[in-house]
Amino acid sequence: MARRAVGSRSLHWLTLAVVLPLLVLAVLAAVGARSQMQAAWADARMEAERLAPAIAAELEHDLGQSINEIAIYPDPPIPGEPSPKDEILNGTDIGALENLRNDPDAGISPAGLPRRVLAGLAIHRLDRGWPANVAVMEGLLTVEAPSVLTTLALEKMQLGGMTEARWRREEEIRARVKELGLDEGDVWELRDGVFVHIIHREGKLSFVQIPDMRVDHDRSLPPWAQARLALASSPPGPEVIATSRVRVGSGLEVRILADTSLIEAPVRRLQKWMFAMLGASLATAAVALAVLHRTIRRERQLGEMKSQFVASVSHELRAPVASIRLMADALEAGKVAPETAREFHRLIAREGARLSTLVGNVLDHARIEQGRKVWHMEPCDLAALAADTLRVMEPLARERGITLRHELAPVEASVDADAIQQALVNLLDNAIKFSPPDTAIVTTLANYGKHRTFRLSVRDEGPGIPAHEHARIFERFYRPGDELRRETQGTGIGLSLVKSIAEAHHGTVTVESAPGAGSTFILELPVALSNSSTGH
Ligand code: ADP
Repeated sequence: MARRAVGSRSLHWLTLAVVLPLLVLAVLAAVGARSQMQAAWADARMEAERLAPAIAAELEHDLGQSINEIAIYPDPPIPGEPSPKDEILNGTDIGALENLRNDPDAGISPAGLPRRVLAGLAIHRLDRGWPANVAVMEGLLTVEAPSVLTTLALEKMQLGGMTEARWRREEEIRARVKELGLDEGDVWELRDGVFVHIIHREGKLSFVQIPDMRVDHDRSLPPWAQARLALASSPPGPEVIATSRVRVGSGLEVRILADTSLIEAPVRRLQKWMFAMLGASLATAAVALAVLHRTIRRERQLGEMKSQFVASVSHELRAPVASIRLMADALEAGKVAPETAREFHRLIAREGARLSTLVGNVLDHARIEQGRKVWHMEPCDLAALAADTLRVMEPLARERGITLRHELAPVEASVDADAIQQALVNLLDNAIKFSPPDTAIVTTLANYGKHRTFRLSVRDEGPGIPAHEHARIFERFYRPGDELRRETQGTGIGLSLVKSIAEAHHGTVTVESAPGAGSTFILELPVALSNSSTGH
């Protein structure tokens, strides 16, 4: 009991020694996974913070180049002084008209319209297909034209696209400047997804259009990042991980947006592997522990069975030796009646036979265990061998009121005759031991499987054996039930020896039995053995 307690305690320690490090590993893995994720985010943030100002600087440069200024004209227009230049406007000299259009000092006509724009329109009227003039006019109209003339010119020249859009924006901006009460300074506005920068200074109005909030940037951004322009006054949203002011006017910034799934995906993939491997290790450890538990339990059981075996053997030896000695002493003293003396001789012979079977069993068991058993396979008349054995067992059976019957067909096989006899003795001994009086035990020998094998079986009318014990009774030292309540004596090696003998002959031993239905033990062995199998 004490040994068992110590055994299970050490097993518990072992379990703990395996499971604890694995659990610690699991916790470490979880903590590691967390910090891995944090590190991935920290890296992404750092990269974003490096990128945002660079993008902002590049954008500042681009914006600086694309700013458009619009001169604000009074509305309605103020008439200018008459000048000889007005003559050119009415003429058809395209060269003179061109000079006038390009002259920054062309001034305002008496109608209050810039002569440069009027010259451009005149050229257009005279020579419609002159694309260079159209291009110059586009610039002039946005920079210098008053609203009335711009409308007129746009209609006449059928200029669309950017020129018209810009000009229309100008009107809006004028209204917005008024609305904002913006005397001096600048402001960014986002209208219909377009950024408009309004600068109102010294009676002038400037604006920049950025048609897309996404910043198409030369430098390649990491796949998880997106750069966007935004009004600094708008809420940034959770995906923004870095911002940088754009120093063109005020209130515009570059934002770096992070795609969470792209940042986390590689870390998650790694974690999946890590946890899968951890799971596999845990499962392996669990299986290994279960196997270890089972092995140790079996070893312990075997140890217990072995000590029981030693106790049973010494008991089995002591009892016949004691009775032989008693009877021999009585015979020696010569005080025994002749009838009793005969009986004593018979009993001494019987106990002697029992002892020799027992000692033979124990010795053979030891030899087989240590691989020292030598088998002598020779052709043998098995019917004769079985008949001899039955004759030897007859007195024992008769003594217990049991009839031994047999059905022996002639079988010739190559076997170790002593071993087969030993197997049959054990089967018969068990049958006699377990059979109630006035029953019969039938020994059968017959060829089987087209004469390739033979069957030697012993059938009794004993208590039978439940199915779940069928395999176990052939294990060494195994004896079912409670040792103290066991009625029959034995050592638990008889059937394991029979099994070893069967296996040495490349055959099998099986049992057909059920509680209350008796038992039949069947040895099935090959008739001829190859030479190679006749070794030890
Ligand atoms: P032992 O007979 O010394 O106990 P064995 O190995 O010969 O050991 O048998 C193992 C167990 O098998 C026996 O203890 C008994 O419970 C069971 N057994 C063997 N033969 C019979 C039989 N003919 N009828 C019922 N039980 C049997």
